[in-house]
Amino acid sequence: MNQPGTSTSLFTRLRFVLVETSHPGNIGAVARAMKTMGFSQLVLVNPRFPDARQQEEAIAFASGALDVLGAARIVGSIDEALDGCNFAAALSARLREYSPPVLTPRALAAQLAAGDSLQAALVFGSERYGLPNEIIERCNALINIPSNPDYSSLNLAQAAQVLAYEARLASVGDSVPSTPIGFQGQAASLTQIDGMYTHLEQALVAIDFLDPANPKKLMPRLRRLFSRTQLETEEVNILRGIARQVLLKLGR
Ligand code: SAH
Repeated sequence: MNQPGTSTSLFTRLRFVLVETSHPGNIGAVARAMKTMGFSQLVLVNPRFPDARQQEEAIAFASGALDVLGAARIVGSIDEALDGCNFAAALSARLREYSPPVLTPRALAAQLAAGDSLQAALVFGSERYGLPNEIIERCNALINIPSNPDYSSLNLAQAAQVLAYEARLASVGDSVPSTPIGFQGQAASLTQIDGMYTHLEQALVAIDFLDPANPKKLMPRLRRLFSRTQLETEEVNILRGIARQVLLKLGR
């Protein structure tokens, strides 16, 4: 599933490789994690169950991402999984003595998003053993999700979610949709707002809160307060209504 944009979009350049995964449920959950962030290329290297894609748990955890799960490729070696890639990043909860450069998911995602010609793989280890050193040493980077040093091992699908999320943000940014959500009234015009200040000022003078001979900075401060609020016509009318009522009660 391509995102709007070009064929070099990270969504078509990034694959998720799961090595020797034990639990079909985790495979399904990774498919879901990927699809929620717009990714679809899933490769399984020697899963414990060759029919993992059809297993009940995988299907249940994939939920609406059955397309990603069903299209997952099953291969017999890491070489096959990385075929066509020119960049591979190994995911590990543990840092090693000998390893490629260590990056955070965010730093990696920035590199991947910027490198249009990168055909990249994220390589995840098995639930019990993680990734073997031979695979880590073949990768261009070792990715460590910063976590609690006393308990740093995330669930496989949750680790995949973190990476998919960072990759998405690095690609499309983190702004929320620009169309306003929920109720939004009509923005008040400057004339309406000016009328409101005049009205408020009269009321404040009438109740002796504002001394016209010595106004200090009251009105400028109130203007500053309201200028931060993006007043709507309805709200201006409420404030004017309050001022009107004050004046009415005082017989002015
Ligand atoms: N028991 C294994 C961890 C398995 S968790 C071990 O000690 O290595 C399954 C996979 O999720 C890991 O192989 C790794 O690819 C990924 N993962 C889990 N926690 C991670 C972390 N903090 N940083 C990077 N990857 C992590």
